[in-house]
Amino acid sequence: MHPQAQRVLVVGSIGIDTVETPFGKATDVLGGSATYASAAASYFAPVDMVAAVGEDFDLRQFSFLQARGVNLEGLEVVKGGKTFRWGGKYHFDLNTRDTLFTDLNVLGTFDPKLPAATRGSPYVLLGNMHPLVQAKVLDQMAARPKFVVGDTMNLWINIARKELEAILGRLDCLIINDSEARELSGSHNLIKAAANIRRLGPKTLVIKKGEHGALLFHGNDVFSAPAFPLEDVFDPTGAGDAFAGGFLGHLAAKDRVDTAALRQAVVWGSALASFCVERFSVEGLREVPPKALSARYAAFKDLAHFEAEA
Ligand code: AMP
Repeated sequence: MHPQAQRVLVVGSIGIDTVETPFGKATDVLGGSATYASAAASYFAPVDMVAAVGEDFDLRQFSFLQARGVNLEGLEVVKGGKTFRWGGKYHFDLNTRDTLFTDLNVLGTFDPKLPAATRGSPYVLLGNMHPLVQAKVLDQMAARPKFVVGDTMNLWINIARKELEAILGRLDCLIINDSEARELSGSHNLIKAAANIRRLGPKTLVIKKGEHGALLFHGNDVFSAPAFPLEDVFDPTGAGDAFAGGFLGHLAAKDRVDTAALRQAVVWGSALASFCVERFSVEGLREVPPKALSARYAAFKDLAHFEAEA
């Protein structure tokens, strides 16, 4: 971690997931956007996590996050409540999945309360939640954060379009996947989609394309990063959140949001996502040795480098 690293505030879901992939099934395992994103960001910067669980949640599951320096003061245990549960089944190509069930439980009434010490956080990650809940987070900030990154999903594009457009106007950067970008913009072409979405607010946009990598749009710059070519992808759950956490963690570590730092952040995010998908649940993010992380970052450089002839 950089000595001058700034704090990252992560607000999102905590889930108990049941995930089926062509390689097996994991029942009642730790998940949620805040969990994956906080774990990933903690490799670069100190993290404050704000989220909610029910009384059924075993808080010891978060000892690995605490050991990684994640501050859990903003974790609310809702009295009499049950933790959010989600079930998903991946198709053979692992790029598509069906949601088998969503029991919102405490997430349905989640009303994030930011501890006083987090209200000045310069770097903020709004995980996939109802856009009105995302707005409540920003409403509590003492000052405009330096860089606000948001995630969303098809559900909100479909049922809360107006609220989503309002929050887009308050984001510096939106991170979404390709199908969501097409749906949000109404354009099949991702370049046109990016232009349309950026007109709605976020000056910086990342479009994730699963195993095909990610595109970054910032100013007039377009950057394309590959996904790491892994032979063994076990569970894609949380890859997007791990990407977002690694991405913002790097920016906070450098305390920079210029084009060069953003390009690096996309690669760090992709590196964290690649560790995430190698194991079930959050297993791949528990303890990535620093050397393995830097080696993967370097491998990304080699992967995309070529000598242009004179
Ligand atoms: P991702 O694979 O990046 O879409 O993230 C998967 C994680 O998001 C899982 O661990 C789920 O617990 C969580 N999740 C799934 N659906 C929702 C939802 N509607 N709201 C918030 N979190 C969700």
